[in-house]
Amino acid sequence: MRHEEFTPPISRTGPRRRPVLAAAALAGVCLTAGGCAGDNGQSPGAAPRSASPSPASSTPSPRQSPDPAGSPSTGPTSAKPRPEGPLADRTVVIDPGHNPGNRDHTREINSQVDMGTGRKECDTTGTATNSGYAEALFTLDVSRRLRTLLEDRGARVVLTHDGDRPFGPCVDERARIGNEERADAVVSVHADGSATGNRGFHVILPAAVNGDGADTAKIVAPSRELGVRIAGNFVRTTGSAPSNYIGGDTGLDTRDDLGGLNLSTVPKVFIECGNMRDPKDAALLTSADWRQKAALGMAEGISSYLKR
Ligand code: ZN
Repeated sequence: MRHEEFTPPISRTGPRRRPVLAAAALAGVCLTAGGCAGDNGQSPGAAPRSASPSPASSTPSPRQSPDPAGSPSTGPTSAKPRPEGPLADRTVVIDPGHNPGNRDHTREINSQVDMGTGRKECDTTGTATNSGYAEALFTLDVSRRLRTLLEDRGARVVLTHDGDRPFGPCVDERARIGNEERADAVVSVHADGSATGNRGFHVILPAAVNGDGADTAKIVAPSRELGVRIAGNFVRTTGSAPSNYIGGDTGLDTRDDLGGLNLSTVPKVFIECGNMRDPKDAALLTSADWRQKAALGMAEGISSYLKR
């Protein structure tokens, strides 16, 4: 089964939009596992940039002061602003996919919410490995590791949930949190549930969507930049190859059916870190050491994007 807001099992034996993705992704994603040392995810055509720009070189985007009272009542885990570090003045929202409690709240998560281009379930339970390690636990673990790495670099980090609520948030609220926090980047962390033999990670980018309550025109390009940098660094830190079943070996897919992307007004991507249903991928996903490498790849990709 496929996870998240994904509509149930659509057997996708071929990549979607392959020609576009392949061309774009070739610009920035290393295609071979373990062969990308030094790849920081930047496109070859990008202007050279300092690996460690001074904080002063960053141009903070204008934003209001964080206002916890303005956040959803059950809302995001508040962040600890840090004045130092290369990502000072930057806000990153991390969205741990699903919630371990969703399975006990079927009625609530099956309720329909507006996803900008229609209505969809509030949330889903997510998948699990064959041995029972839940995607919702995986996403929380990786998200917490990622938070630590980003905070160490000075970023202000907000999680959409931290195992501190009985279910959800719904996908529309997940998007809203990123918007209201005026995030400079948002990453929604997932792992896929596909057939045995389907392996590897992929990053999901927002398609251009313009519908009732959804307009992604302004985030398509920066989200792609964010996604390309995360994919390149993820290959480098984990040694994992891009998905062999989605994205035509680019590690990138573009979708218009995810409310969490459609409703975002800030740069946002999803990452499917691997396939929980494949035993070899599952061996990685259940390894704490590997999860740390996965979080590091995301942190490096996000950092690279934010320090452009
Ligand atoms: Zn998921």
